[in-house]
Amino acid sequence: MSKPPPLPDRGPSPDSAVTSAGLHWSPLSLASTSKGVRAHERVIAQIEQQIFTGRLGPGDRLPTQRELAELLGVGRPAVREALRILEYLGVVGSQTGRGHSSGSVLVVRPAPALTRSLRLHMAMSQFERDDLLETRLHLEVLAVAKAAEKAAPEDLDSLAQLVAAMEDPAHTPEQFYAFDTQFHVGLATASGNRLIGSLMEAIRDVVQHEMSAAPIDLQSWPRTAGWLGAEHSQILDATRRGDSDRAAELLAEHIGRFYDVSFEESPARLISSWSAAGQTCR
Ligand SMILES: [Zn+2]
Repeated sequence: MSKPPPLPDRGPSPDSAVTSAGLHWSPLSLASTSKGVRAHERVIAQIEQQIFTGRLGPGDRLPTQRELAELLGVGRPAVREALRILEYLGVVGSQTGRGHSSGSVLVVRPAPALTRSLRLHMAMSQFERDDLLETRLHLEVLAVAKAAEKAAPEDLDSLAQLVAAMEDPAHTPEQFYAFDTQFHVGLATASGNRLIGSLMEAIRDVVQHEMSAAPIDLQSWPRTAGWLGAEHSQILDATRRGDSDRAAELLAEHIGRFYDVSFEESPARLISSWSAAGQTCR
């Protein structure tokens, strides 16, 4: 992904400083630190600003902690706290063993941290079932259609292993649903679109929780596992054949049927909204 072009440079304010990297940093005013905004939050805001304006991007190095403290007019503890938070968010690389002599580097591929953060927020947000179903339909139908066009052989092999794992009758429903969720996330990864993969990874816990929440009749479970497994197998076959329309159709039916059977709710309205949208995005 390329960096956004830098905004027109209006030049430094009278108080701002230009580092060796040509970046502008402004000392934090007393007013900005006295209205409940803590010093480390202002440090983060300044670094964010440099990223949003395209002055800083993946792989770039920040000034050292000492330089940042001087440039921003804050104590070293505030800078350290800001960097720790940015490290947790996956924006800057690990500080461990780095010492204080070199600045932190902005990470090049922040996807795992994005996913971790999104997963946590998704788990906390308690979305409506309809909203989750609708989002899954659009995301997964797009993912499987793209996977049919460009899945790598190793992605297809991993999916085949998951399909095989789901055929083991010894699995409990919980174990089956864990494989099932992995299969759906795997399809998103196989799409080759990293954003779809990250978004699907982000909702995986919510999806799995939703599946586990479905009332299970243990007597009829082997039959349920049987048809779910057969549908996964058909979706994978269509994906392997490169038949993106059929793979998308099978996937939409599969998700719809699961909700239909498990929750006795007809998702027909959502399925038809997917069909209408599908015609415009193809
Ligand atoms: Zn499934």
